[in-house]
Amino acid sequence: MSTGQLHIDLDALAANWRALDAKSGAGVETAAVVKADGYGLGAGRVARALAREGARRFFVAVAEEGAALREAVGPGPEIAVFSGHMAGDTDMIHDLALTPMLNSIDQATRHLEALPGHPFGVQLDSGMNRLGIEPAEWAAVRDILLPAGPRLVMSHLACADEPDHPMNAAQLKSFREMTDGIAAPRSLAATGGILLGPEYHFDLTRPGIGLYGGAPFEEAAPVVGIELPVIQTREVAPGEPVGYGNTWTAEAPSRIATVSGGYADGLIRAMGPRARLWDGETPCPVVGRVSMDLITVDVTHLAAVPASLSILGPHQGVDALAEAAGTIGYEILTSLGARYARRYKG
Ligand SMILES: *Cc1c(COP(=O)(O)O)cnc(C)c1O
Repeated sequence: MSTGQLHIDLDALAANWRALDAKSGAGVETAAVVKADGYGLGAGRVARALAREGARRFFVAVAEEGAALREAVGPGPEIAVFSGHMAGDTDMIHDLALTPMLNSIDQATRHLEALPGHPFGVQLDSGMNRLGIEPAEWAAVRDILLPAGPRLVMSHLACADEPDHPMNAAQLKSFREMTDGIAAPRSLAATGGILLGPEYHFDLTRPGIGLYGGAPFEEAAPVVGIELPVIQTREVAPGEPVGYGNTWTAEAPSRIATVSGGYADGLIRAMGPRARLWDGETPCPVVGRVSMDLITVDVTHLAAVPASLSILGPHQGVDALAEAAGTIGYEILTSLGARYARRYKG
């Protein structure tokens, strides 16, 4: 095996969905967000595993993702598209039975004219100013859209991973002002919103990152592990450098292992020496720069050099690796790339 192994624990994923479903509360539907190929882990595998647990509705970013997902999950589950009904998407939305979340008056007009009677939802902008119909526009079109029976009326929180941020209450208020009293089901919470408490849950929650084991869902079971095979080991004398730019120089006689995996595998260069690889319980520091396909690791203190080292696992999870790289778990997961041998469990 010459490439890294990406272990994806579908049992842990299912357990995370059940835990977030329990937190969403009785009578609240828990959907699953599987955009960006299921946060890099394989949208088809992820969605089929969650459908077996009882998830009935999946969210993707764009219609093309929805089309691929429809092939994987079959005709039963609802597939909702956050980017809505974009120009050129009409056939795909129709033929693959996708449910666009309409984001603007333009999209609403396009949808109702091109596909009258076809299911849709509405995304409202409650203050994030990214996607969705704004309050003044909503006032103008709600009496056209609501009688057409949206499957969902939703909005998205900008600061839900910071429970004390005043933006949360402000967006909740705005969303309620736009939607109190409507008959359609409502949704405001992604993973962070679920953790904010029941007043944020409405009729449906839409977790993504928490399913995959990432913050802010601290209790999440880890879903992803990565093992990188050792290609070569060498002895380095004091004063000898390792890697591009000579950024590390041995101060003592050192044994350096070179593993297969690098920034082209989402092990992003910025993590540098703050990341560690693990031989079971024993951490081994990264030395020198992360290259495209290779990482050099100080294994001087190991009794024997193992066949592979772990860079993502029980001792260094997605969020720890992200922190070492100055980013968030979402970016680590969605950057992992196609080169790993993927091993699904469950
Ligand atoms: C990505 C996304 C989600 C899921 O968010 P997580 O933080 O991953 O749980 C939910 N809703 C919308 C609109 C999104 O863009």
